[in-house]
Parts: sequence; structure tokens; C-alpha cells
Amino acid sequence: MNERTDSGATLDWQSVTEEAIACFKDLLRIDTTNPPGNERPAAEYLAKRFASEGIEHTLLESEPGRASLVARLPAAKPRDGKGALLLNGHLDVVPADRERWTHDPFAAVEADGCIWGRGTIDMKNMVTMSAMTLLLLKRQRVELERDVIFAAVADEEAGSRQGALFLVERHPDLVRAEYVLNEVGGHTVHVGEQRFYPVQVSEKGICWFEISAEGEPGHGSMPHPHNAVVRLSRAVAALGRARLPQHNTRVVEAFVHALAAAAPFPQKRLLPLLLVPGLSNRLLDVLEKQNLEQAIALNAMLRNTTSPTMLAAGNKVNVIPSEAKATIDGRVLPGQSAEQFLKEVERVIGPGLRVTILEQHDGTIFDKDTPLFDAICRGVARHDPGAMAIPYMVPGFTDSFAYARLGATCYGFSPVRLKSDLNFSRMYHGHDERIPTEGFAWGLKVLYEVVRDFCHTT
Ligand SMILES: [Zn+2]
Repeated sequence: MNERTDSGATLDWQSVTEEAIACFKDLLRIDTTNPPGNERPAAEYLAKRFASEGIEHTLLESEPGRASLVARLPAAKPRDGKGALLLNGHLDVVPADRERWTHDPFAAVEADGCIWGRGTIDMKNMVTMSAMTLLLLKRQRVELERDVIFAAVADEEAGSRQGALFLVERHPDLVRAEYVLNEVGGHTVHVGEQRFYPVQVSEKGICWFEISAEGEPGHGSMPHPHNAVVRLSRAVAALGRARLPQHNTRVVEAFVHALAAAAPFPQKRLLPLLLVPGLSNRLLDVLEKQNLEQAIALNAMLRNTTSPTMLAAGNKVNVIPSEAKATIDGRVLPGQSAEQFLKEVERVIGPGLRVTILEQHDGTIFDKDTPLFDAICRGVARHDPGAMAIPYMVPGFTDSFAYARLGATCYGFSPVRLKSDLNFSRMYHGHDERIPTEGFAWGLKVLYEVVRDFCHTT
């Protein structure tokens, strides 16, 4: 009997949750540390699940072992103008230093109300929730008015070339979508008594560059004023101290005002002053002493930033080298070009140094006035009454910049409910990455319902 159950009321969430947790743990135990990535076993694992339930899917390799999986549930009643919704998750994870973890990062241990492991937050949780969403939509015979695509991709942690970018450039028809849901957003942020679910609608771009200084070579026993190492060090130190000029974007303005509205006094008054360039530096100085993490996050939303990350000079203790180089991780606000950014940099480091761009892509801002954003707001409010979804900008980048090249509107919404004692941003790439089991189960339900509400025929 084909019973139509697209209300979802008949879903047995307990068994669905158990199934999702088992799948999640299986994925966590497949080591996809990038480098080298080796995502193929994880992609094959999911392919098998889709195959057993008759969901069409394609496994693609950019290089041997670097596999991504794309699956699709076609619309039963496609509507004109309703493009696909793509659920994206990357399969690779960053390295874990086993010694520093309480539990083995690839054992998927469940302890203290959490599932522990590399990828529990970044982002095998979203991969699992998205795969389950497809399976449930299919099992529930939900009548779709737009296609739902699932992409589990390789290589996000190394810049997406072997994963999302490979799909976008080489197989665009598989992943072209009107909307994308992806990572970095949808987690609980507690401000006073208020709970927020920031949804990423904007990402900074990157401008990774090298500074090189030239000088006079010489013998280490005879110091002279034209030492390339010293010249370079001055520039690096200046960048380390500097705050580049502030540029307010509408996403960040709205985010700061939303936080302020809910915050207790005196934050309520102080937060909006961050948007006043003359005052914000002093405020950030004060905040750095009280809550360094918050200060760092807010600072990164207000300006282009530079982090010196690699240094190279010389190869012998008693030889003054003729060249010294520093590699800088530059992050650029959406709306700003690499040229504008490098002008700001040059003002700080001064003349006489060579600056070379190594890698660059622009930041993104997506429209938040869309029916998908509304569906997210409804989903959050239904499952966490009183809480609010608010748009925000992330200082890093995700696979979304790749899908944006095909015209998609991308949001970071990988829902997970967190208590105030778990620091979400510290989970990213940190030791002891973990997710509350209940918060994961909550996220699965929210994601499934948001997708169902947004995609099923009305
Ligand atoms: Zn990630």
C-alpha cells in the first residue's frame, strides 16, 4: 500500500534518529583527513545507502581517491522558475593531533552527552543530516515541486579544488541549483537570555599573498643596515599590529543591531558603537581584554585582515641572505577588490617590498529576502520557541563560493542546538571536537522539515 505521508506526522523520529546516529558514527570512523583526503570510502559508503533505496546518484573522482558524491531526488511536479535546492557537505576533515584529544578522534565515542570525533561539527554532521533528509523525503513519498540535490564533496579544507570547484567547473549540470544549504550557521548562540541561530549569508574572500624583501648579502659577523630579514620583519610586525580601515557592510550592520537589541545593558548600548569607525577601535581594545574571542570575531567582520603565517629566509647562521619572504593570509570583505585591499596593506608595510598574490577569490553576499530564508526562520522558531534566525557573515570561506559561480543563493545552515557551555567556534578544527547527541538529533529534524516545507508541492 502506498500511503501518502507527506505531513511527516507518521515518521518515527526515534528510529530515524538512531539510524542517523549510526550512519554519522560510521562516517566519523572513516578517516578522511586532508591531506591526503582520500574521501572515496566515505563517498562509497553513502552511495551504497542511496543505491539500496533507489536514489539516483553519481560518484565522481577528480583524482584517484578524491571522490565526491552527488545524488538527486527529482521533482514530481516541477514548477516553472523553481530551481533545485542543493544540500552540501564536505567529506574531508582537518588533521587531528591524537595526543591532545580526550577520546580517539576517529572512534566516534559517545560520552558525556556528546559524540566525539574529527568532523562531528565540521562537517560530517551536515553530511549525515542531508543524506538522511534525502532518504526520508523518498521514503515519505514527499511530492516535490523542485529537485533536491545532495552533494558530499572532497577537499573543502584545502580550498575545494578537488571537490566543489571540480563539480562546478567540470560537472555543472549535476550541481546547478537555485539555492544551497551548507555549513557554518544554524548553531545556537546565547546572548543573555536570548538564543540566536546565525545563518551565514556572506563570506569574506581570500587574498593570499607573499611579501618579499631584498637586501645586501653579507657575513653574519658584520651586521649592516640592509639586511633583508630585518626589512621583512619590520613589515610583518607592522601588519601584525595594524587594524586596516573599517568598512561596514549591510549584513554586519544588521547582525550587530540584532545582537544589541537582545543584549543586556551595557552591551545593548555599546555594540552599535562598533559600527562607528572613530569609536570602534577603542571599543575593540576594551573587548579584547574582556572577551578576546568575541573581539576577534567582530573585528574580522568589520575590516579586511592579514595574518602572517609562513616565513622563509636564509640557510646558514653566519650568512646574511639577500632575500626574505613572508606568506600572508589576507581576508577581504565582500564588495572590496584585491587591489583595494593590497593598497591598504602597502600603506602599512611601506615602500620597497615586493607583494605577489598567490591565490585570490572575492567574498560573497547573498540576498536574505528569499522564501528559503523565511522557511529557515519558521523552522527555527518552531523547534526552539523564542529563538531567532539572523543573517551573518563568516570571516572564512566554504564551498559556497564555488556554487555561487553557478548563480546559487547559498546559506550556511547546518542546524545544531547547543547549550551555552559549548563554544561552537572552538569546535572548528579544535581538539576534542564534539557535538551534543541531542543537539544533533534536533538539527536533523529541523533540516528535514525546512527542506520538506520549502520543496514540497503546496
Ligand atoms: Zn567545514
